Amino acid sequence: MTKHVQEERIRHLNDKDVREGDYVLYWMQEAQRAEYNHALEYAVQRANELEQSLLVVFGLTDGYPEANLRHYTFLLEGLRDVEEALKERKIEFVVRSGSPEEVALDLGKDASLIVCDMSYLRLQKDWREKVAEGADCAVVQVETEVVVPVELASDKQEHAARTLRPKISEYLDDFLVELQPTAIDKQSLNIEADGLDLSKIEKILEDMDLDGSVEPLSHLYKGGTNEAKEILEDFLNNRFDDYVENRNQPQTNDVSHMSKYLHYGHISPVYVALRIREAGKGRENVDSYIEELIVRRELSINFCHYTPDYDSFSCLPDWAKKTLKEHKDDEREYVYTREQLEDAATHDEYWNAAMKEMRHTGYMHNYMRMYWGKKILEWSNTPEYAYSTTLYLNNKYFLDGRDPNSYANVSWVFGQHDRGWKEREVYGKVRYMSAGGLERKAKPKQYVEKVERLVEEGRAEAL
Ligand SMILES: Cc1cc2nc3c(=O)[nH]c(=O)nc-3n(C[C@H](O)[C@H](O)[C@H](O)COP(=O)(O)OP(=O)(O)OC[C@H]3O[C@@H](n4cnc5c(N)ncnc54)[C@H](O)[C@@H]3O)c2cc1C
Repeated sequence: MTKHVQEERIRHLNDKDVREGDYVLYWMQEAQRAEYNHALEYAVQRANELEQSLLVVFGLTDGYPEANLRHYTFLLEGLRDVEEALKERKIEFVVRSGSPEEVALDLGKDASLIVCDMSYLRLQKDWREKVAEGADCAVVQVETEVVVPVELASDKQEHAARTLRPKISEYLDDFLVELQPTAIDKQSLNIEADGLDLSKIEKILEDMDLDGSVEPLSHLYKGGTNEAKEILEDFLNNRFDDYVENRNQPQTNDVSHMSKYLHYGHISPVYVALRIREAGKGRENVDSYIEELIVRRELSINFCHYTPDYDSFSCLPDWAKKTLKEHKDDEREYVYTREQLEDAATHDEYWNAAMKEMRHTGYMHNYMRMYWGKKILEWSNTPEYAYSTTLYLNNKYFLDGRDPNSYANVSWVFGQHDRGWKEREVYGKVRYMSAGGLERKAKPKQYVEKVERLVEEGRAEAL
């Protein structure tokens, strides 16, 4: 066990000094958890050094692009866990309405030092820049949402998992290590800082200006570190044994359901990876899970970090853009509107089941996500429109939507991180998937039955 936060995770965002303030402020935004959070532990350690208390703040904006009632409910449930856990550590936690950078700057006026966590998406990077510029004290960012810090692993956009894998492996032993909490010397529960009452989540949601058309899923998955750990343990005890065998079998449930918790920072990738290794469920299962959790997930992070237009068609590799444009005018057997897709009203029962799973449970098995995306490309009038439709549906319904994984994987549907395949209509050289292939490799009819059962019974399958 170590309390040490590796230097490579730490970055000074401005050249201002630590000054005489009332407290150290940890502006929590991406890593919404009170354990295995390198930014939090770093902030505690700095507060102890400065003989000050630590205040933790979260800025709650209702203006986050594409976030709706489903997402905010999950997020607030997670913040409730943070509040409880920080209280036990004698650290005051405040959630304030407002644009996060403004909330951070406001509470930062009385801080000697501001610590923040790191994000890889445009708007979030912009917030951090504004805080670094606007604050009168030092602002230090600590990277905690990855196992290996993104810029250490690579200084450029990687072509594919195969090019990133060896770079990640090189640093794994240094960064895949436990993180012990540091006790705070000076408690802060006596600081009076107005914030939202997290025991009244419904009231907070009512007061926000949100798209309420996508129902919350608390009855299926609750947000928060406690729930995340419970689901992880259930996976390790009951389903992990069959991970390799069933990872691509959407009719089964031998997956971890960690992506939504990772997206909100409710659980740390370092913690999940360590528990996976410890569980001792066979080398193949461990290696395969680590490949997904670390290599694939961090490839998505690498992609967003180094690709300014990560959310548009223009980000595709040249060969993919060229071949899709060459086939733009090919006749399509089926063309569906966005509404028809959203209503799961296509001719394809497998695809419709996938869309229903997404709408009703906020989740879809990875293998079906691949098929689902490929068919949107096939059934849209242009590849550009297909791209924006896929991203729109992905981010609207998935609990894990609006994540680096969302952008990289939607882009994968259109050729990103892949190579050219045999040329065909509509897809050009971009990889194709068919219902026949699905039937050969998995049991999609059983998948359809599974989704019908889940929707009818209003259930999810994680626990
Ligand atoms: C078209 C398409 C859209 C997708 N959209 C999203 C999205 O919005 N958000 C999201 O988090 N993932 C997305 N994925 C990736 C993947 O499908 C999900 O991460 C995975 O299905 C989540 O389920 P799980 O946690 O049970 O996975 P598990 O199989 O238990 O995997 C463990 C962890 O590994 C990571 N992982 C697994 N598969 C992938 C992958 N293909 N790429 C990167 N990391 C992976 C995730 O963090 C996951 O939680 C998408 C994939 C495709 C093909």
